[in-house]
Amino acid sequence: MAIRAVVQFPDPVLRVRCAPVVDIDDTLRALAADMLDTMYAAQGRGLAAPQVGLTTRLFVTDMGWKSGKPVPQIWINPEIVWASAGRQVYEEACLSIIGTARRLARPSRIALTWLDENGAAQQEQFTGVAAVIVQHETDHLNGVLMIDHPTAISAPVTAP
Ligand code: ZN
Repeated sequence: MAIRAVVQFPDPVLRVRCAPVVDIDDTLRALAADMLDTMYAAQGRGLAAPQVGLTTRLFVTDMGWKSGKPVPQIWINPEIVWASAGRQVYEEACLSIIGTARRLARPSRIALTWLDENGAAQQEQFTGVAAVIVQHETDHLNGVLMIDHPTAISAPVTAP
C-alpha cells in the first residue's frame, strides 16, 4: 500500500467522465487500498479515482473514521438511480480544491447501485452526510466538481 499524490484543481483529469471498471481483481483492490491510505493521509472521508489521476469509475470512503469507528468502503461503477425532491444543505470540502468550502443543497435521500470489491451488486438508500459524500464522489466520476454547483444561500429545506 502506498500514499499517492492528490491531483489538484484545475488539472484536466478532474474533468473526465470516467469509464466503467471491467476487471475487479487484485490490481483494482490494491489501487483501492492505496486510495484509502491516501484519503486517510489527507484527512478526507472520500476519494475518487480521478483525484489520483485515474479515469475509472471507482471511489473509496470512510464515513466513520473521524468519529473513531472506521468503515473503509470501496465503491465500483456507482450509479445514482433515484434522488429525492427534498434537499439538504451541508458544507462540503474537496481534497482536490484545498482551502475551499462550499454550502451546497443536494437531494437529501438518494438510492445508489454499485459493485463491491468482490464484484457483488449492491443497492442502498442514503441520507444525511452519507448521501452528501456519495453524491460528491459520484460527481467526481462524471468530471463534476463541487464548485460547479450553485452555493446554497438560504436556510436548509429538508424533506424525505
Ligand atoms: Zn472532491
